[in-house]
Amino acid sequence: MGNEMAGNAAILVSGTMQQRKAHAVLAALMMVCALAGLTMSWTALGRQFDTSAYDYLFRLETPAAWQPESIILALDEETLTKYGGLTGMRAALADGLEKIRAVSPAAIAVDLILPDASPADDQLEAGFAQAHNLVLSCDLLPNGTWEDPIERFRKHAVAVGEVHAELDKFDAVSRALPLERAAAHDRRWALALETFVAVNGGAQIVESPQDLSVGGTRIPSTDADGRLMRIRYTPPVMNGIPRVSIAELDRHPALASRFRGKVVFAGVTAQTVSDRWMTPYSNSVAMPGIEFHANAYETIARKMFLVDAPLTAVVAVCFMVAGAAGLAFLFGAGWPSNLAAAFVFAISQMIPALAFARGTVWPWMPGTLTAVLGIAAAAAWRHLIVRRELAFAENEKTRYQRSMQFAIHELRTPLTAIQGSSELISRYGTMPEAKRKQMADLINAESKRLARMIETFLSVEKLSAGQMEMKQERFSLAEVVRRCMERAKPLADAKRIAIAGETLPEGDVTGDRELMEYAVYNLLTNAIKYSPGGSQVSVFGDSGKNEVRLSVQDQGIGMDKKEVSRIFEKFYRTKRAEQSGEAGTGIGLSIVEQIVAQHGGTIHVESEPGKGSRFTLVLKQAL
Ligand code: ADP
Repeated sequence: MGNEMAGNAAILVSGTMQQRKAHAVLAALMMVCALAGLTMSWTALGRQFDTSAYDYLFRLETPAAWQPESIILALDEETLTKYGGLTGMRAALADGLEKIRAVSPAAIAVDLILPDASPADDQLEAGFAQAHNLVLSCDLLPNGTWEDPIERFRKHAVAVGEVHAELDKFDAVSRALPLERAAAHDRRWALALETFVAVNGGAQIVESPQDLSVGGTRIPSTDADGRLMRIRYTPPVMNGIPRVSIAELDRHPALASRFRGKVVFAGVTAQTVSDRWMTPYSNSVAMPGIEFHANAYETIARKMFLVDAPLTAVVAVCFMVAGAAGLAFLFGAGWPSNLAAAFVFAISQMIPALAFARGTVWPWMPGTLTAVLGIAAAAAWRHLIVRRELAFAENEKTRYQRSMQFAIHELRTPLTAIQGSSELISRYGTMPEAKRKQMADLINAESKRLARMIETFLSVEKLSAGQMEMKQERFSLAEVVRRCMERAKPLADAKRIAIAGETLPEGDVTGDRELMEYAVYNLLTNAIKYSPGGSQVSVFGDSGKNEVRLSVQDQGIGMDKKEVSRIFEKFYRTKRAEQSGEAGTGIGLSIVEQIVAQHGGTIHVESEPGKGSRFTLVLKQAL
């Protein structure tokens, strides 16, 4: 009976319910993926991946070269050798300052802690006294106190900045610098920041939880993480901050002109000194500490800040990525879905890169993990759904085949009787008249039954396919019910079941009387089939304003809610019905429903397992 008529609401309802459930499962899965992606990226391992991604983007998105404001006055190997090693550093520095004094540098930041007296101090103090905007260094000692320069130097400095290194705890690479550091209640600003303040005429540092402001420069650095500021190191094309060593100045005094108006960072660059750090750019060659401070200064002076993306935005994007992954597989599988998934993944990769190009550090892990997990989970979800649908279809097919076999068998029964009887007649020419008549009657009755069966199946099929105009005649429903009760009586008697016509419906119906008879007869025979011997089947009729109602009630095996929602599906039979030993195809009710729908009516079922069922037809009353 291949048709999908609108009437089959039960299947539709159960279909959308299942679909809704499946969609809810997908939505929940995607939420879990987003949360898992976020959580996993906050683990130590996740952070290391993020750091690697940061370094990668750092090298990928290099800023254009610029003219640095700073220059390094270097105490390199040659200088140290010339001045007799580390002990000669102060004398060397004093000489260097002397050589560049004439070109008036904008400021001089010295990355040497000068905590004690030494023989060359007179010369160095004289140098410091003449230096404009001198900034000296201090460092935090392991015992938690500040190591400051001695007072004779200190008094010539406009500020003392701290030079404690902040290395990444996982790989000891220097990526950021804390702009403030406190020991007990003694807080110091970083050397680079103090130098920037000095260059800006000693402007005040204004603090807010989110940033520091110096003059017109806002430095994003939150109070929560010790005012950590990411350093934008000079890109490789610039070959680092310009550097001139004191020994070189000695050889070529003209080099002093390079210091004109510049911010000078004076410190040790010699490889022998351990004050060297790795940066995202360095490949095995570490950067001297003094260059690190100069880079921090350049970052501030050029406002090249790299700011972390707000957490809420990262979380929101993760959920969006998960949602998109789910959408990719919501409507299907195959190439379009795979392409959509690839697109989602590509987006998750592009966001950190695009953000970085705009100075925002967007963590790579949360989006990537969410995309990978989300796509995998959504694809698996789709796979399971497809498998379930396939299994369902297979199931339908076997049920259909089984029922077809049964239906064919049903058609064969009258055929066999006809064949047998006709053979007997032709073989035994001298058959008693009474016997011959009995056989002829049997043949007649069986062929009529066969014709009726075929007729009914075919007309319902045609009717539902819209190929046949349903007869439109006016008939009495009570009449139809009466005929059906008569026809069903032998069946009921065989099981000692009483059919009680409690009340009969009053009023006429317009439509096809034969089809209606088929429907009512089916309800009656079902009631008898699925009831125990000795029970009662009752028929109630009732007519309302514009409708006629007819109920068939039994005391039989009944059904639960789930079963009721499926009995109008073609070939569906309940377990209880199958176990009852009653033959059936599971087609009858689907036909009944179609007939009722064609008559503009509805069918309702109330049932309880073990207690019985009540099928009610509600039809339009003919005016
Ligand atoms: P069939 O009776 O040939 O199996 P139907 O389409 O008439 O097919 O009915 C479908 C199924 O609905 C039955 O197999 C049975 O499980 C259930 N059913 C129908 N009528 C009743 C009833 N009166 N009591 C209990 N179950 C019923």
